[in-house]
Amino acid sequence: MKVTEHIKNANGKTLLSFEILPPLKGQHIQSIFDNIDPLMEFNPPFIDVTYHREEYTYKDVGNGLLRKQIVKKRPGTVGICAAIKNKYNVDAIPHILCGGFTKEDTENFLIDLDFLGIDNVMALRGDAVKSETYFKPEKDGHAYASDLVSQIEDLNNGKYLDEELLNTCATNFCIGVGAYPEKHMEAPSLDSDIHFLKKKIKNGATYIVTQMFFDNKKYFDFVDKCRKEGITVPIIPGLKPIATKKQLNLIPHRFHVDLPEDLIIEVVKCKDNAAVRQVGIEWCIEQSKELQNAGIPTLHYYSMGKSENIKAIASEVF
Ligand code: FAD
Repeated sequence: MKVTEHIKNANGKTLLSFEILPPLKGQHIQSIFDNIDPLMEFNPPFIDVTYHREEYTYKDVGNGLLRKQIVKKRPGTVGICAAIKNKYNVDAIPHILCGGFTKEDTENFLIDLDFLGIDNVMALRGDAVKSETYFKPEKDGHAYASDLVSQIEDLNNGKYLDEELLNTCATNFCIGVGAYPEKHMEAPSLDSDIHFLKKKIKNGATYIVTQMFFDNKKYFDFVDKCRKEGITVPIIPGLKPIATKKQLNLIPHRFHVDLPEDLIIEVVKCKDNAAVRQVGIEWCIEQSKELQNAGIPTLHYYSMGKSENIKAIASEVF
């Protein structure tokens, strides 16, 4: 079922969804199930599975020589989605990127998803390859998520890349896109970022999931701004409980979000990471309850392999 239908059918009740990462290459899929199992009692209507593009590594080939090679450290997004649907009968949402995909790759990826009975896709640009400063699209790929959304929407209208194909079968994907209450790191301003977010909706996206934030005011202000700009689709908040002291620096660095002073003070006071974990859980419970009371349709948790934290939060909120 489409995310938009799940939200409609919930009749104002707040739903819980979450995101998982494919395991590192070589690991068993059981690690994914171990992550999902503790959260099934909260009836998640959908589970997102991230996509991880290729990275360059250098392999020592002897004689002081290094060979550059391309590896995917976390393959398996599509297989995991199929496994989730099969094992839990829950909608699984694969993330799909511009980065590393030609338009032809994208079309074939979407055909696989359609054949598997996947109803939703999360369309994202992706970041630059780790060794590069700026995002570079493939030679025949998309530079922005809005263009990727257009291609998916074309397929929803039966329009394939080869326009000579006749009597084509149209897909029916519900398309989600990402957004940043504290602005995407490359955007010159929040207004500019919202302008391009609007383009993603105009091109066919029907719901939004936000980057994580730790101060609900940032989310509420962002939603207000989006509504004023005429964006009417659901804006699902992304939440992550802080779990280690290291994350005080890592989260702002990697995700370009601010941490509230009160949270920083509480984390700094902690003697060990078990105490930080508890602070993170309590902070996220407060955030979740406030969002739930404001009638937000779905709370989306970034589990990052730590579903026990999410379970502790969900037990208090749902
Ligand atoms: P876009 O919407 O394309 O925007 C990128 C930047 O370009 C923004 O600054 C925007 O303002 C600007 N822009 C957009 N269109 C134009 C235009 N036409 N002209 C000029 N500027 C423009 N990454 C992964 O690798 N895998 C994942 O699974 C993944 N999941 C994510 C899930 C969520 C909910 C979110 C919020 C992010 C996720 N990301 C993931 C990270 C994401 O790929 C990066 O944040 C990426 O840098 C931007 O992706 P986007 O789709 O928001 O890009």
